[in-house]
Amino acid sequence: MDKIQKPVLIIGGGMSGVTTAVEIAEVGKEVILIEKIPYLGGNVIKFNNYFPKLCPPTCGLEINFKRIKQNSRIKYYTSTEVIEVSGEKGDFKVKLKTTPQFIKNNCTACGKCAEVCPVERPNDFNYGFTKTKAAYLPHEMAFPYKFFIDDEFCKKESCNKCVEACEYNAIDLSAKEEITELEVSSVVVATGWKNYDASKIDNLNYAANNVITNVEFERYIASNGVGGDKLLRPSDNTEPKKIAFVQCAGSRDENHLPYCSAVCCTASLKHAINIQELYPKAEIKIFYIDMRVAGRNEDFLNKAKANKNIELVKGKVGKITETENNNLILEAEDILSGKKIKYEAEMAVLATGIVPSGLNINLNTDKDHFFTDLQPEGIIPVACSRKPMDVSTSVKDATAAALKAIQIN
Ligand SMILES: Cc1cc2nc3c(=O)[nH]c(=O)nc-3n(C[C@H](O)[C@H](O)[C@H](O)COP(=O)(O)OP(=O)(O)OC[C@H]3O[C@@H](n4cnc5c(N)ncnc54)[C@H](O)[C@@H]3O)c2cc1C
Repeated sequence: MDKIQKPVLIIGGGMSGVTTAVEIAEVGKEVILIEKIPYLGGNVIKFNNYFPKLCPPTCGLEINFKRIKQNSRIKYYTSTEVIEVSGEKGDFKVKLKTTPQFIKNNCTACGKCAEVCPVERPNDFNYGFTKTKAAYLPHEMAFPYKFFIDDEFCKKESCNKCVEACEYNAIDLSAKEEITELEVSSVVVATGWKNYDASKIDNLNYAANNVITNVEFERYIASNGVGGDKLLRPSDNTEPKKIAFVQCAGSRDENHLPYCSAVCCTASLKHAINIQELYPKAEIKIFYIDMRVAGRNEDFLNKAKANKNIELVKGKVGKITETENNNLILEAEDILSGKKIKYEAEMAVLATGIVPSGLNINLNTDKDHFFTDLQPEGIIPVACSRKPMDVSTSVKDATAAALKAIQIN
């Protein structure tokens, strides 16, 4: 007897989850892709651009979104998480929970709801450095391209302004959470990473106004980000002329993350080059322990070294203090000259590492909490849920995961 082909479940709609989904669907198998936030694209969609080619994030993702739209074998659920997985290879039973969808799929993204919405919320796409209305479009390239209503901030029926303004009858403020039960053949875990919590690194003074993390910097330098076409420092919205990068902020440190996150050195070189393109006279110092760049990313190192306004200082920053005018004094030992140095910067960027996002189902992890390859048969962790890696390695890993998943019936 032929078995009915069950779909593959993919948890996480970042670069690796999206790639796995299209690869599986395009060989003829059904896919269910779930993402816990309202839009697909993961961490990469928030970047200014990405190495090695410094393409905007939409390049690569946009074509995959098109492949998703065109392929009826892919069903995706956003604002959705897994709450239960049981069963075994070929026959998993999963329960999904979707947060209330106050705006329905017939939304045309006309924006009338946001125009009349009286409430503001922190814009999570910009890590809370800007605000949106409680009825908001997550970002201009959002997939799905529709508005959302933030349950936490919306005043619901006591306000009702958005319902009255919507010409398409696309808003239902009484919508409830939904539970979906499915049977799937295998589960690909593409839950990716989050940034290490910089507030835990006391000596690097993340609490200071002008100290931000590398992921926050992506939104500061992006033209659709915090300062528009300008890089503006948080304390006074002025354009900083002296910017310092602190590599291994908490990484390769037994008190924080004992491992190397593999991408932070190239990310900071990318950031330095991004600043130079915007402000060729800006002075940039990158404090590092070892510059770890592999393969084609070596080009970035050479480009940075050739730029007289980018200085690479081999030395771990021990302390950052804030001056009265919100500048920052970075203290480090320059290993090559043997001298202790103090450098005054107008803005500092902490290159914090990658930690796994995790998942509320019980899977095997290594000592750093990344998922290991040793899982119950039919459960396949992929890309940054397994270990830190760049986009091109994540995409290759996703293709390998697709190949494993389609063999399970
Ligand atoms: C500062 C910085 C800059 C970088 N710049 C570059 C660069 O320029 N070039 C490059 O090649 N690489 C870069 N990287 C690495 C790049 O971000 C990763 O390679 C990439 O994000 C891996 O994609 P992913 O899909 O595995 O994970 P993610 O991008 O983290 O996507 C995971 C997705 O899963 C979702 N998710 C998590 N948990 C759940 C759950 N329980 N249920 C449902 N969904 C869930 C998340 O919301 C997210 O959408 C950089 C990394 C950092 C830290």
